[in-house]
Amino acid sequence: MSKRLLLIGGGHSHVEVIRRFAHEPEPDAAITLVSPDRLTAYSGMLPGHVAGHYSREECHIDLEHLCRAAGITRVESTVTGLDLECGFARCGNEHTLPFDILSIDTGSVAATAAVAGADRHGIAVRPVAHFLQQWDRILASAARARSALRIAVVGAGAAGVELVLAMQHRMLGLDGNARFTLVGDGPGILPSHPRRLQCRFMDILNARGIELRLDGTVQGVDADSLLLRGGARIATDEVFWVTGAAAPPWPAASGLGVDARGFIAVNAKLQSMSHPRVFAAGDVASMVDAPRPKSGVYAVRQGPPLARNLRRALRGESLLDYRPQRRALALISAGDRYAMASYGALAWGGGWVWQWKDRIDRGFMQRYRVEGGWSGQQGRRR
Ligand SMILES: Cc1cc2nc3c(=O)[nH]c(=O)nc-3n(C[C@H](O)[C@H](O)[C@H](O)COP(=O)(O)OP(=O)(O)OC[C@H]3O[C@@H](n4cnc5c(N)ncnc54)[C@H](O)[C@@H]3O)c2cc1C
Repeated sequence: MSKRLLLIGGGHSHVEVIRRFAHEPEPDAAITLVSPDRLTAYSGMLPGHVAGHYSREECHIDLEHLCRAAGITRVESTVTGLDLECGFARCGNEHTLPFDILSIDTGSVAATAAVAGADRHGIAVRPVAHFLQQWDRILASAARARSALRIAVVGAGAAGVELVLAMQHRMLGLDGNARFTLVGDGPGILPSHPRRLQCRFMDILNARGIELRLDGTVQGVDADSLLLRGGARIATDEVFWVTGAAAPPWPAASGLGVDARGFIAVNAKLQSMSHPRVFAAGDVASMVDAPRPKSGVYAVRQGPPLARNLRRALRGESLLDYRPQRRALALISAGDRYAMASYGALAWGGGWVWQWKDRIDRGFMQRYRVEGGWSGQQGRRR
């Protein structure tokens, strides 16, 4: 009897798993992907889409096309829990999906839980489909607004800085009436990047008139303001919440072994430390012996070793270890066609960096476009 492999989530690692199974099908496996949406977003191009440089289609991978090419059944649903003893996943629409081998790549969730009102009044970047719906709504209302819409972006890491600059760029292009504030809880912006890059982005934010509220730990969010520790308030019409990655609750609640933050604990084989027939990759997983930041680049790099080990597990072969790279190249865009790169302590910037990033991103997406046939090219990502 064929073995059942269930893939939960169409994240950056699983799209590569599916691509590899399309190139080399596994005859004795019945593979299912469960994912809430037909399209999955490529985060590297998301700020560029918000800024208006890319269409929605250009920054999304069509999971239906990918799965069809690989002979994989796609179920449109959200997993809410697992029965690890009996081997099935529970879905939001009452479905249950059985598995012999399970792989989870569902990403992280917004870190809103600790702040009162953030869930209700803040717009999180995930789920991306909801974020983009909200962005469309805000663009439309800014075009009609008599007084400037007050938009706050909470989180001064790479995603927050890229998004606030992208949003402002798009608003300017559409003659939208909006004012932006970037709120961070530390003394500076982009804390994990070199000083040169931080200073350059600080200059850009100031030159574009984006208000900076640093050292501003948000304690509460309501319909028209942010409450900061110490009592200060920032008046807002819209709040975007980009404060980093939290773990979804259902893996731990299902009994999977997790790290101290609730991310699925995996070994060097990307295999659950508690349940050997479960694998996990991307933001939702934590490699206990080689922890790395939550970033798309690591999720992408885990795709090939995950595909290899899932295939070996299906065949009953021994699994192979994977060692992630120590550091990764980061490419951060400034809304317009300017970007900076950082690698360790080094940083560069310029229009040419944006063009470079654009080529890498388009090359990456090309690998997952099925209509034109498989390109076979090994596009790189940061
Ligand atoms: C604005 C922004 C810009 C970024 N830019 C970069 C960048 O330039 N470079 C970089 O390296 N990183 C970047 N990141 C970080 C990057 O987005 C994440 O690290 C990356 O997306 C993680 O990939 P993943 O495979 O873990 O999951 P994801 O890409 O988040 O994909 C998870 C998938 O699983 C699905 N899913 C979720 N829950 C369930 C469920 N319960 N059941 C079934 N399916 C589910 C989702 O719908 C989604 O399709 C950025 C993040 C943001 C917010």
